[in-house]
Amino acid sequence: MTIGVDFDGTIVEHKYPEIGKEIPFAIDTLKRLSAEHHKIILWSVREGRLLDEAVEYCRKRGLEFYAVNSNNPENGIQRERHQRKLIADVYIDDRNVGGLPDWGMIYRMVTRNLTYEQALNGLDDDDEEERDRSRAGLFARLRRGAR
Ligand SMILES: [Mg+2]
Repeated sequence: MTIGVDFDGTIVEHKYPEIGKEIPFAIDTLKRLSAEHHKIILWSVREGRLLDEAVEYCRKRGLEFYAVNSNNPENGIQRERHQRKLIADVYIDDRNVGGLPDWGMIYRMVTRNLTYEQALNGLDDDDEEERDRSRAGLFARLRRGAR
């Protein structure tokens, strides 16, 4: 999956043009998603040196982006203001409607393809299997009781 991720307010606390403190588990989660073969693209309004600093901040912590402000890694770091919207399957951004979920929830939503509501209600795949099993058990008990 191609994942567009914002920097300020998403990976680090919003202190633009400075770099805020890391938001808990942001970089570990992105490294894990990257290791699981998702393409992580940094999608930031930062330009020039400020953009380089953000890329370097992540690199020092072991996070390499697939591409920066571009769909194509061969374009290198796109330092000028970009005009075109990135093409991604999902975007992780603190300006999402409803704000930024915590990174544990973001991981579950991305890897299990859940909506925010499903993740909030714990409706992931395992739970669904569990529900199906208990439902099957209930029907079996009802059938037995009916005899
Ligand atoms: Mg932001």
